[in-house]
Amino acid sequence: MVERLSNFPGFIEGIAGMELGVKIFQQAQSEGAQFTMARLKKLQPVDGVFHGMDVNGQVHIATTTIIATGRVPIRLPSEKANLKGVNFCSVCDGPLYRNQNATLAVVGSDNSAAQHAITLARIADRVFLIYRSAETKMDSAHAAQLAGQKNIEILGETEVIGYKGLDIIEALKVRSRSGETHEIPVDGVFLAIGWRPNTKILDVDLKKTPDGYLKTDVTLMTSFSGLFAAGDVRDTDLWQVLTACADGARAAKSAAEHIAKITTT
Ligand SMILES: Cc1cc2nc3c(=O)[nH]c(=O)nc-3n(C[C@H](O)[C@H](O)[C@H](O)COP(=O)(O)OP(=O)(O)OC[C@H]3O[C@@H](n4cnc5c(N)ncnc54)[C@H](O)[C@@H]3O)c2cc1C
Repeated sequence: MVERLSNFPGFIEGIAGMELGVKIFQQAQSEGAQFTMARLKKLQPVDGVFHGMDVNGQVHIATTTIIATGRVPIRLPSEKANLKGVNFCSVCDGPLYRNQNATLAVVGSDNSAAQHAITLARIADRVFLIYRSAETKMDSAHAAQLAGQKNIEILGETEVIGYKGLDIIEALKVRSRSGETHEIPVDGVFLAIGWRPNTKILDVDLKKTPDGYLKTDVTLMTSFSGLFAAGDVRDTDLWQVLTACADGARAAKSAAEHIAKITTT
């Protein structure tokens, strides 16, 4: 869950992720949902049911399962943990820099990095798009959009080798193609170097995208019967709380229908 959530209907000023999470939890409880808190180490099908082994060795058994384990951003190896100003979502955290004459940087070279830079260019005074490779991985439409933005500066063949700042980021330490190192002062950085869907607990052979997201059908069932997926872990093009909630509702409906089907046959 995120610190301050935007883009969620009904909360014009946003809401703390934790606060929304507690409200949703309590609402589900009042509707009769039961919760077991456990961190799973492994989930596998055994004799027609699912066995979820938790970190304490306890096995939780279910006829139907919805996996909603989310995804985690890939970070730079040089990164200091918990440094403020290191972000991963321009739509979510970009607005924090509005009206601040901010200088921001995006690290990455694909369509997603380009999209972040374009979004941030509407908010910040200056945006650097920094990538290590000689070529970008973005398509021509994104490249053209970038070229049309006067306040985006593209720095190819430039590697981010560290951050400067104690609690809040102050600058990026970079190394250019010639091997020279220097600092770029920034108010924030947005990393677009990829995400990793949280699927490592799954001991099931499933259809996935090349990036590892779980493929689902229209009912949100994965390629394994009775195993559904919802939210960021599945193959989607929008990773937001609203869409994750919508997935949760659909997956729950489909799971209930699946249980009804297997118990009557
Ligand atoms: C920095 C940041 C800011 C964001 N800001 C916004 C925003 O403002 N607005 C917005 O709409 N979206 C925002 N997002 C995106 C949003 O957080 C996600 O799209 C959303 O939370 C996805 O929900 P989810 O349930 O799929 O996954 P998550 O919310 O990531 O939940 C996954 C859950 O699975 C649990 N889990 C994982 N592995 C295991 C395991 N082995 N055993 C048990 N539990 C496990 C995790 O503990 C976690 O509770 C932001 C994302 C980031 C990273």
